[in-house]
Amino acid sequence: MSHSETHILKFGGSSLKNASLINQSANIVAGHMQKAHPIVVVSAIGGVTDTLIELTNLDQKTEHKSCRIINDLELRHRRIFDEVASVSHPNRGDLQDLFGRLRTTFDDKSLKSEHYQAWKDQILSIGERASALIFSAALSEQQIESTAHESSHFVKTDSTFGKARVQRDATRKLIRKFINQSQAVPVITGFIGSNEKQQITTLGRSGSDYSAGLIADALDADHLEIWTDVDGVLTADPRWVPDAESIEQLSFGDISELSAHGARVIHPKTIQPIQNKKTTVLVKNSYNPEHPGTLITSDFDTNGSLKTIAITGPFVRLQIDQKYAYDLFEKLNKWSADNPNTKPIEFRQQSEFEAVRFSLKQSFFEDIKEQLSAWAAKQNTLFNLDDNLYKVKKFSNQFNKGEQLSGRVISLLAKNNIQPLHTERNYDERFISFLLPEDEARRAAHLINNAISKTKPVIDLFIAGTGAVGKTLLNQLNKLKTTDIEFRLIGTCNSRNTLWNTDGINLDTTLNWDEAEQTNWDTLLDKLTKNQHRDLIFVDATGSEEVARLYPKLFANTIHVVTPSKLANTFEQSFFDKLQSLIQKHHSSFNYETTVGAGLPVISTIEELQSTGNKITEISGVVSGTMTYLFNQLEQDVPFSKAIADARKKGYAEPDPRDDLSGEDVARKFLTLARTLGIKIEREELQVESLIPKELKDVDGKTFLGKLSDYDSEWKQRIRSAQERNETLRYTGKLKDGNITIGIESVPQDSPLGQLKGTDNLIQIYSEFYNQTPLVIQGPGAGKEVTAAGVLSDILKTVEQLT
Ligand code: ASP
Ligand code: MG
Repeated sequence: MSHSETHILKFGGSSLKNASLINQSANIVAGHMQKAHPIVVVSAIGGVTDTLIELTNLDQKTEHKSCRIINDLELRHRRIFDEVASVSHPNRGDLQDLFGRLRTTFDDKSLKSEHYQAWKDQILSIGERASALIFSAALSEQQIESTAHESSHFVKTDSTFGKARVQRDATRKLIRKFINQSQAVPVITGFIGSNEKQQITTLGRSGSDYSAGLIADALDADHLEIWTDVDGVLTADPRWVPDAESIEQLSFGDISELSAHGARVIHPKTIQPIQNKKTTVLVKNSYNPEHPGTLITSDFDTNGSLKTIAITGPFVRLQIDQKYAYDLFEKLNKWSADNPNTKPIEFRQQSEFEAVRFSLKQSFFEDIKEQLSAWAAKQNTLFNLDDNLYKVKKFSNQFNKGEQLSGRVISLLAKNNIQPLHTERNYDERFISFLLPEDEARRAAHLINNAISKTKPVIDLFIAGTGAVGKTLLNQLNKLKTTDIEFRLIGTCNSRNTLWNTDGINLDTTLNWDEAEQTNWDTLLDKLTKNQHRDLIFVDATGSEEVARLYPKLFANTIHVVTPSKLANTFEQSFFDKLQSLIQKHHSSFNYETTVGAGLPVISTIEELQSTGNKITEISGVVSGTMTYLFNQLEQDVPFSKAIADARKKGYAEPDPRDDLSGEDVARKFLTLARTLGIKIEREELQVESLIPKELKDVDGKTFLGKLSDYDSEWKQRIRSAQERNETLRYTGKLKDGNITIGIESVPQDSPLGQLKGTDNLIQIYSEFYNQTPLVIQGPGAGKEVTAAGVLSDILKTVEQLT
């Protein structure tokens, strides 16, 4: 078989957790047989090393549990064995002997007291030795000839039990000698070695990957395949960031750099032995074998595109008065000296007058807790403590000067109101890390992952109100094609029912209201504020006062609002001010372009003029499409009452046309414009001329409509006399010098206002720079299509502000 390739196939504990996973793994080995000579390296069966460690931690009080633990362990192995191999297989006896040895070693009190670590390593080695026996027997079952090997025969190490250092040259020679490629498929224990006295040592947790690397090197393997329980190397730990994506390809350099930054997929030392080789490394998922996984090769050039997040912790943070800091720092270093993995992480001093802070691994802190309090008592001092902190580190191998990667991440967190306890960054911006409480760390990791992710970031949407605008918006959203973001509708509601689905409601089919719950704003608000993994935009298309009054709570939770409802901006001035300050404080955003002139860019224009320092001196014109329609009809001799009835039929006017005729709608629009300009003004301060005859103010809707024709001749008269002067009537508003006046105006027929048709609005803006001729915005100012399109463009604008 000398012509074929050498493949090292390493199976982690999660890939061997039960009989069916072991059989699947054996099939994978079989699959490699055609073109390669496979060599198998195994970890202990999933969870076994943890159980063995538990065993070694028993003390006098708990020792009686050992029998049960060992029996359970043996039973678990034996059951798996019997499922994957035949009872007559000789390894079955070896497995039994192995557990006999475990019992003897466990009871070896003299070894335990003389050299606890050596004793412990012997016990830990049982896991890999047992799984090698089982796996090898499982291969025989598939007619693959195989032998189990204990790597303690050829992996030579020093005597640092628990984390032994490998003697590379001796090991390489012995592997070559023992693993003769012309033989049956070897199944080798990972994780274990032996020192010069032939005592068993272990290479540290997850060390089987490293064993596989050593074997790959010694045998000049062409290919090393590492089977685990995730889709290869991911952009982040999926337990923290469910949206983490797998990285297609990496270089050896990348993977060691990632390991150094705390990313955990394969053991940091795995690649080390084969660094100068052409071996290809493939990380695969036993739980999703079809996924291509991650390919790691020596020379792959990620081309500056590698971005990942590593989360480490938990940490505790100590804060102590200046004058004790140095002493404490010395003590911490001393205590951690015999424990090289737990060095105090930082020693920082903000200024001479501030307390000093240290971050420590929480496990280390637990170990030294007593010493620490004894020390504090002696100094007669106290320290402050934050615990359960995590470090979220964004790493990128991109290095373009001036790219400001950290700046972007920092402002992303700031926008989402996440304030790290500590930020650490490298001068060349290859990484930036944030220390945060667990919950915040999770949110931060999520946000950063969204920002660096290759696929589109997801933005959550909730749409309240499924009337004309809401429904049209849902349709438009479904047709929307964005290239750089994906919207997910997590819920929608009307006054009666609520649909909620955080995985996203499918917009391709009609909404299924059968699955709806009753709308309850207390519970809904609770759900909305708890759904804070992604940016959330709340669209209020209800026109309900109750909903508008919820905005403060939404803004306080950094939920962004987009609305065509005029209500929130036109309540009392103090409410408006409250909204503004919450928006500022919580980095929320509020877009309400469609409250004036529907989709016309009125609000954005005045905001832009103002932000460029162009002082606005006057805003005037027609902001009611219904009114334009009404006067157009009057011009054409249509009676007043009929024009209003038609406007209702066409959906321009409100169901009770008095809402339009009263001028209230126009008043609210001007109030919004004024407040957007920063003018403090209450509704009562506006002068508004109503078109509702005094006598009909308080009658019911039906009577109102019935009596309207009484006024037809009066209106005919009014429009005629204007026309005789070559003028016509328009319902206009004007904001000037902080005052708002609204009412009927007679304007020249050939003026822009006089020419208005359909449901058009016309807004004139005079400013310092536009003081002779105004800036004019004209177009359809009503209608569900234009309004929904305007809402959609506000949604997109919100996203722009966020990213
Ligand atoms: N079984 C050992 C552990 O759980 C080594 C390994 O799985 O790589 O740490
Ligand atoms: Mg508008």
